[in-house]
Amino acid sequence: MQILQGTIKNPTSIYGIGLHSGRKVRVELLPAAPNTGITFLRTDQSTSREVRACVENISATNFSTTIGFGNSSIATIEHLMAALSFLQIDNIRVLVDGSELPILDGSAEPFITTLKQAGISRQAMSRKFLVVKRHFKFADGDKFIEIEPGSGSTYKCEIDYGAGVIGKQSLTMNMADSDFKSIFSARTFCHQKDVEFMNGKGLALGGSLENAVVVTDLSILNEEGLRSKLEFVQHKMLDCIGDLYLLEGTIVGKVSARKPGHALNALFMQALLKDFDRYLAVVSLPLQTFAAESEKQRDLRVASSL
Ligand SMILES: [Zn+2]
Repeated sequence: MQILQGTIKNPTSIYGIGLHSGRKVRVELLPAAPNTGITFLRTDQSTSREVRACVENISATNFSTTIGFGNSSIATIEHLMAALSFLQIDNIRVLVDGSELPILDGSAEPFITTLKQAGISRQAMSRKFLVVKRHFKFADGDKFIEIEPGSGSTYKCEIDYGAGVIGKQSLTMNMADSDFKSIFSARTFCHQKDVEFMNGKGLALGGSLENAVVVTDLSILNEEGLRSKLEFVQHKMLDCIGDLYLLEGTIVGKVSARKPGHALNALFMQALLKDFDRYLAVVSLPLQTFAAESEKQRDLRVASSL
């Protein structure tokens, strides 16, 4: 786990269509100073102001995570947020000339590739760790998200779509593992009947087999099939990691999610923030203390520094 805050070395951009609007959109990614966080700005609106990527600014969670105020909002931020979380980028300015980020191939992989090509630089300021002090659970029927203390940053995710193609899947991943490619390359997915429903509401107009896995009750419609047997749960974990990065820090502890979705993720974070200090401690390490330590020693000390 990186201890120093990160940004990108050089400006870069990425271009694609919005999943819901079907419109072309260009995203510019710019380096940002330490402690400025992740901010989004609509460049197609003269009155738009910069929106910080944080829980307080979530404005909608239907089919994607949207942040903003009134008409000046930006949807489908979760895959970029997940890419930033994976790459441990804390400070970046995101300029968007439309109402949503491009869906690209439905995963976070194109964002990861673009950010890596821009280069990542570490900044002379400690990252913010959110160390879990005690168990907290937010449940809605049989869905829940809970956090509990633990060293490192571990995510467990379970989905249960009954007897269909998606079925039940479960996955646990430690964020310190370097092999999380299977998570960030997992694509968004939906049932064919959901596509018809969403199109009827003017949503998912840019959706296609190029940017989503589409299933029926019995089969997967994409000719190429799945990228991995666990692609469905891997994508849900990707969304969860992206949404939870709106807490503006790296969680040190164990996160478990059953049947998560953008609405549940937001409700969990909003409930957690109501009593933040009871459940989380914000830890930033003095720069001189970690210089001589291994990554494992750092992880352990972050977890035990309460
Ligand atoms: Zn997603």
